[in-house]
Amino acid sequence: MGMRQVHELRERGVRAVILSYVDTAGINRVKTVPVNRLDDAVRWGVGISPVFDVFLSDDSVTGTDRLGGPDGDLRMRPDMDRLVVLAAQPGWAWAPADRFTQDGEPWVADQRGFARRAVERAAAEGVSFRMAIEVEWVVDPPEPTFASAYGMSRLVEFSDYARDILVALEEQGVQVEQLHPEYSAGQFEVSVAAADPVAAADDSVLVRQTIRAVSRRHGLRVSFSPCPVFETVGNGGHVHLSAWRGGVNLFEGFPERDGGYAAAGILHHLPALLALGTPSPAGYLRLVPSRWAGAFACWGVETRETALRFVPGTSGLSGAANLEVKCFDLAANPYLLLGGLVAAAMSGLSARRPLPPPVTGDPVLLPDAPRLPTSLDAAVEEFAGDAVLRAALGSVLFDAVVAVRRAEAARFKGVADEEVAEALRWVY
Ligand code: GLU
Ligand code: MG
Repeated sequence: MGMRQVHELRERGVRAVILSYVDTAGINRVKTVPVNRLDDAVRWGVGISPVFDVFLSDDSVTGTDRLGGPDGDLRMRPDMDRLVVLAAQPGWAWAPADRFTQDGEPWVADQRGFARRAVERAAAEGVSFRMAIEVEWVVDPPEPTFASAYGMSRLVEFSDYARDILVALEEQGVQVEQLHPEYSAGQFEVSVAAADPVAAADDSVLVRQTIRAVSRRHGLRVSFSPCPVFETVGNGGHVHLSAWRGGVNLFEGFPERDGGYAAAGILHHLPALLALGTPSPAGYLRLVPSRWAGAFACWGVETRETALRFVPGTSGLSGAANLEVKCFDLAANPYLLLGGLVAAAMSGLSARRPLPPPVTGDPVLLPDAPRLPTSLDAAVEEFAGDAVLRAALGSVLFDAVVAVRRAEAARFKGVADEEVAEALRWVY
């Protein structure tokens, strides 16, 4: 970072830079600096209170024995390797930030730092991961006008809009794999290429804010909420992942290779992982049978009702085999979620955990198909008792997750489902 880079950014029309941090509740919080202060921000960081680690999605605050209260300060530093000139917010650039103490030490509860540590620990065992989070959203709820899942009519209606999203993402260097009109009225989905987990989490943040910015330019409001419209198919945030050792995809020939152990680790920890990946009470209005949301804790080959869907890939296309984890949504902090998945997969690999047999057909018809937790309360208690995830997150961050989830669930105790959906529609 130096004068030259700032000069180049100015040449490209950049006047200000967004430093973004996703809090424990999954909300993207930002500070910005004019471009001529970027050098200082890289060197010294920008102040941010540690209290955001225990913020809830309505901006109220909970606490743990280590976090909460008005004291202290942290420094947010932009990751300049991920700085992106924003296509739909002219004059702005964006960079994900890491948080440090005032002494320059990495902050123990930093969510992005956790994901990086999980990746480094796996790398020390010779394993790397490639991941991607699918993004679904609904335009202008609750009265969307255009129906027909995957319908050409909706694409025609929104054709300039959808093109502008693709163009903006391409200009920002995000490799889109596909975009389509999804099941619900006014719903779309975009999927992007797999990357290292930290980069995939960064992409998930960037893609959503890009969609939001393009939508605003088209006079549209968007909801990424898991349940934007009560009792309709919601927005998922499905994770695709593969694990690699020495250039070999462990999911090739699944479940014969070690990919089976990795999947078994994820399946075993899935009820607890919901507290990371399905962190909002609205998520449990989405995570119900017969909506392709993956409400059952089992796996199948190309089965869209199981939480884990093994995708063998098209024959001839090498390296494409992967596991899709469907039960999560976009209220998740992607760094917590992807770091948690790495930790769960690694625990399965090192324990050589056996994978139960696959399910075929609709699990709702099977007498004993296990449902995932059906409430945030239940998920957070699974999480609170998970020693593997506690060790991976470290106790400060782990306790923050427990406190935030319990408080988020308590906020909506006794509130009717329809009101929960409405209260959270514009939060995510
Ligand atoms: N929208 C569905 C969900 O809530 C997923 C549909 C699909 O399989 O892409 O997860
Ligand atoms: Mg979809």
